[in-house]
Amino acid sequence: MEQSVLDRAREFHGHLGPYAVLGWMIGRRAVELLGGKRHFGIHTMVRCPDAPPPSCVVDGLQTSTGCTMGKRNIELIPDTDILVTVSCSEPPKQIVFQPVRETIEQASKIMREESDEVAAYWLWEQPEERVFTYTVE
Ligand SMILES: [Zn+2]
Repeated sequence: MEQSVLDRAREFHGHLGPYAVLGWMIGRRAVELLGGKRHFGIHTMVRCPDAPPPSCVVDGLQTSTGCTMGKRNIELIPDTDILVTVSCSEPPKQIVFQPVRETIEQASKIMREESDEVAAYWLWEQPEERVFTYTVE
């Protein structure tokens, strides 16, 4: 199952890197916390640097949340750090996700020194609490 998830992420995004995996992991947790809502009735706001590789997080989020550019329920706000807010209006709930800085730095080091795929698989294997923290509001 997990392998096919990464294959789908690669198919959509064109390659597999740690930021797409980060977005995928955050979105998966967000959907679960919002009671399984995907595609509709859910909104994702992504603060992140305005260029790849960090902006690749947006594609991981589109794949996992079903929020898409076309439906206008995902937006990118250029910022220096990554912060993701996923929300729904019924019931009103929002979750703010913050990546764990050291883990993301380690992933980009692996990406530079080995490859994007090696870094993606490394991140995928990390326990969720080492990848991001979140607060439910
Ligand atoms: Zn990418």
